[in-house]
Amino acid sequence: MEPLTNRSVIKEIMERNGFTFSKALGQNFIVNPSVCPRIAEQGGAVPEGGVIEIGAGVGVLTAELARRAKKVVCIEIDSRLLPILDETLGEFDNIKIVNEDVLKVDLPRLIREEFPGMEVVVCANLPYYITSPILMALLEQRLPIRSITVMVQKEAAQRICAKPGSRQAGAITAAVHYYSTPRMLFPVSRGSFLPSPEVDSAVIRLDVNKEPPVEVQDEKLFFTVVRGAFGQRRKTILNTLSAALGLEKETVRELLIQAQLRENARAEELTLADFAALTNRLWALRRERGEV
Ligand code: SAM
Repeated sequence: MEPLTNRSVIKEIMERNGFTFSKALGQNFIVNPSVCPRIAEQGGAVPEGGVIEIGAGVGVLTAELARRAKKVVCIEIDSRLLPILDETLGEFDNIKIVNEDVLKVDLPRLIREEFPGMEVVVCANLPYYITSPILMALLEQRLPIRSITVMVQKEAAQRICAKPGSRQAGAITAAVHYYSTPRMLFPVSRGSFLPSPEVDSAVIRLDVNKEPPVEVQDEKLFFTVVRGAFGQRRKTILNTLSAALGLEKETVRELLIQAQLRENARAEELTLADFAALTNRLWALRRERGEV
């Protein structure tokens, strides 16, 4: 089989199968030959382990994962790619393609059934239009996985890996750091894809935390507070939180004092411990009021 990073090979397979790229599905396929081996190696694809991939494209990363891991299950939404993948991945007997939307797959069940007794990692060149929903779905379900290694837009990578409490932080920073320990692996230029996207990319790895780094009384409330605080990031947390939580400003002011936070602080200045303190104060208030 000719290398799947060769542009003319991809174009020939596509033409023969009448396939055209779907922008709506975030189809930018990797054509830089050094990228997929690095994702597979640094993403923890190992001989005794299992890998879940999201989005096969023409199978360029899938093949690198299958060369290194015991088994690869790849979830691909676009059924037009199935005949192509039959052809490009025909030499492997350790790959299963699941033709579904990753956000609708029962992942705990898939892991139980497909990877019994195996350590599992996720590796993917993500479709960028749903980066955050996919990452949050993988993390919030507390799947029995070791790590998530994904290519995302460079700006998203920077935001995800930013230190909570720093200028680049956003709601996704706090959420990702609650469930995992993220780190930047390597940058990937826009010219590494066919077609070239308008932005550069980066590969990041999220090592799933065994325990969250902060203790919160109510996780749902914690994420409501985080999302509420970042809702309008230029405003003070006093204003954003009173609007987002439907509370009087005086009440929020009191909660902020109790959590030892300045009322004119912006969400990006808050650490995970700050968000946790605020959540726990709010939870105590709700309990006092008989709301929980
Ligand atoms: N892994 C290939 C590569 O690196 O060249 C393709 C990556 S491409 C950026 C993203 C892939 O995700 C596409 O094949 C696209 O069809 C697929 N995809 C898009 N949305 C999806 C979804 N909701 N569930 C599963 N796959 C999806």
